[in-house]
Amino acid sequence: MDKWLLKLPKNKKNHESNEGDREVEASSSSCTVVELDNNDIGSEIQPSISAIEVVPVQEPVIGDAIATDDANANSQQMRNEIEVTRKRKINTNTRAQEIEAIDLESDDHGEEAENQVSIVRKKKRFTYKFRDSWLQLDEFKNWLKRSSKVQNNNEFAKCIICNDDILAHKADICRHSLSSKHKKKFSQVAANNKIDNVFGKNTQLDLSTRRAELKLTGFLASNDLPFLLMDTLEPLCKDIFSDSQVAKNISIRRTKATAIMQAGLGEIISRDLFKKFEKPGAFFSIIMDETTDVGSIKQCAFVIIYFCEDKKKVVTRFFDMVEVASGTAKDLYDCLRNTITSKKIPFENLVGFSADTCNVMFGEKNSVFTMLKQDLPQVVCVKCSCHMIHLAASKACLALPRSVEDLVRNLGSHFSRSYHKQQKSMEFQEFFHVKIHKILHPSVTRWLSLQGCVDRVLEQYVPLREYLRETVMSDPSRTTDEMLLTMNNKFTKIYLEFFPTLWDS
Ligand SMILES: [Zn+2]
Repeated sequence: MDKWLLKLPKNKKNHESNEGDREVEASSSSCTVVELDNNDIGSEIQPSISAIEVVPVQEPVIGDAIATDDANANSQQMRNEIEVTRKRKINTNTRAQEIEAIDLESDDHGEEAENQVSIVRKKKRFTYKFRDSWLQLDEFKNWLKRSSKVQNNNEFAKCIICNDDILAHKADICRHSLSSKHKKKFSQVAANNKIDNVFGKNTQLDLSTRRAELKLTGFLASNDLPFLLMDTLEPLCKDIFSDSQVAKNISIRRTKATAIMQAGLGEIISRDLFKKFEKPGAFFSIIMDETTDVGSIKQCAFVIIYFCEDKKKVVTRFFDMVEVASGTAKDLYDCLRNTITSKKIPFENLVGFSADTCNVMFGEKNSVFTMLKQDLPQVVCVKCSCHMIHLAASKACLALPRSVEDLVRNLGSHFSRSYHKQQKSMEFQEFFHVKIHKILHPSVTRWLSLQGCVDRVLEQYVPLREYLRETVMSDPSRTTDEMLLTMNNKFTKIYLEFFPTLWDS
């Protein structure tokens, strides 16, 4: 049968080993050794004494004398073990007493005691801390900073170029600086012009250059010229004003010009305008029109009319242009209201409203006009005079023969895409001693463009008629025949003369 030695703390001796024959030795003050067999180990003793050690003992097998010697040897070995265990226990008790002593002293020397304890803790575990001195190193100073990230008491550094957190360990940071990702990004950033260089040194020359760029952008915008023109204008200025340092420094093309106008000048001009109406009593009127642009997006344009204190006269200015979801009266009214209130302008300052005469705007029921009257009973609503004149002129033109307007449109189409016909027409103009002018083509949607075309036809009437007479012979077509027939009609010129009187009235 296997034998076991049970080493018990002294205070458990009486409780666990009350059977005197099993007790073999009590060699130290703190420990008692009890001999057990397999039955005891497997049964009720083992679970109840978890704090004690169970050591297997070799059964003597050769003879009694040897067995006795072995037993003595085993006893000696066990004594040694017990001694070591006792010393360990004493050491542990001493450390526990030391810590307890620190705890007791902590009432009197709180911080000091805490520091001591923390020193004890620090010794237990190593943590990485960020060092500010790294920021001064040449290889780190341009891209490294302290990170706010802390994990398991380990601090982190941050690469501001890669936006990566790196463990605050110098070897790790060096490894990051040598990575291909970091090197690639660093070379890109190094090639950039620093923001300090752009805004930091504002010399008189810089200011003059910025002013010139703003003026050029303003020139394009105020003359309705495309920003694309800046691609030509800038090199042209440099070429013409070659002795000017300002012209040499100008650096502006269409992209910059567009950005300056949209985010710079446009913003500032609009803000100055809106500020005038923020106070209660700063009255104004609004003209509103909804249209569909070439991209089939519905847009609503607003023009503001007000009395300018500085100029001492009524001024008309562009106010805003916004996209609208639909063209219903409710949506258009909401759009009008939002456009005004979003600029911190009191809606009550609106005293006049004008729009085209369609039902959505001025209908008797459920129109922008009726909704506006509900909110602002004092507002004056005027149907747009330009739209009304247009309607009157269109109505008057119905009395004119169709052939007159056809003549103007067909003449425009006839000359619009033919260099040969234009050259031939110029010969007739020279012969009849009239100004060398192109024949204009009326725009499809803009009714005001027709007047310029009529004026031009009247100016070139005789050479045009003679040109058509010659063309009918050399290059006959039905349209040319019709045009010549109309121009030969003596009433045509009278009808054409009637157009300008309509517009002048
Ligand atoms: Zn990096």
